Amino acid sequence: MKIKAVLMDVDNTLLDFGICARDSMRGVFADWGVPYREEMFPVFWEINGKLWEEIEEGHLTKEELYQIRWKLIFERLGIEGYDPVRFDDGFRKYIAESAAPVEGAYEILEYLSPKYILCVASNASPARQIKRLTKANMLQYFEHLFTSEEIGHPKPEKAFFDACLKTLDGITAAETVVIGDSLTADIAGGAGCGMKTIWYNHTHEAVPEKLRADYIVNTLLEIKDIL
Ligand SMILES: [Mg+2]
Repeated sequence: MKIKAVLMDVDNTLLDFGICARDSMRGVFADWGVPYREEMFPVFWEINGKLWEEIEEGHLTKEELYQIRWKLIFERLGIEGYDPVRFDDGFRKYIAESAAPVEGAYEILEYLSPKYILCVASNASPARQIKRLTKANMLQYFEHLFTSEEIGHPKPEKAFFDACLKTLDGITAAETVVIGDSLTADIAGGAGCGMKTIWYNHTHEAVPEKLRADYIVNTLLEIKDIL
């Protein structure tokens, strides 16, 4: 394949959202004086993951997620007496400051950036991702930063990827590859637009039968064998 542009997801592809979220959870719990226990994190992970799936399916907006995320987590944990919306504000402030890299992230960015037009493609706010990628020393590798908030449509909507191609003037969908950890947002989204796709299976989950990814990697460095 003759690839010219690479669209890279950020969370759980370049930055380890698990580490970022755990640290952020510890931080906001301490600020609010809520005792934090490690076994609470899987509850956050499960509920947050389900809500993000609903966003990707178009059943929920991010604003709605901010309203209900901690309400649902507190209910499950039996924690009472805290305003879940303000708690989410506090949590997101920590997330905005978090920038733990995924293993191999710098090496793969060093490898890809001279060879391809490297772009961020993220369902997040541009300010937040610029801040985090700057903190992680990754921003300099990217020529374009595509975010759902700026484009007005999230991945996996075709409108998101069409907007990327519009900016990448003259580059076709077939000359573009999407790299990401989400089978819905990144893989189904990119494939639906005619782009090539590389699924970063960071949790080493069983590969679903209907997988639409052109390639699967278990580590970021395996991308070197493809691109
Ligand atoms: Mg991701």
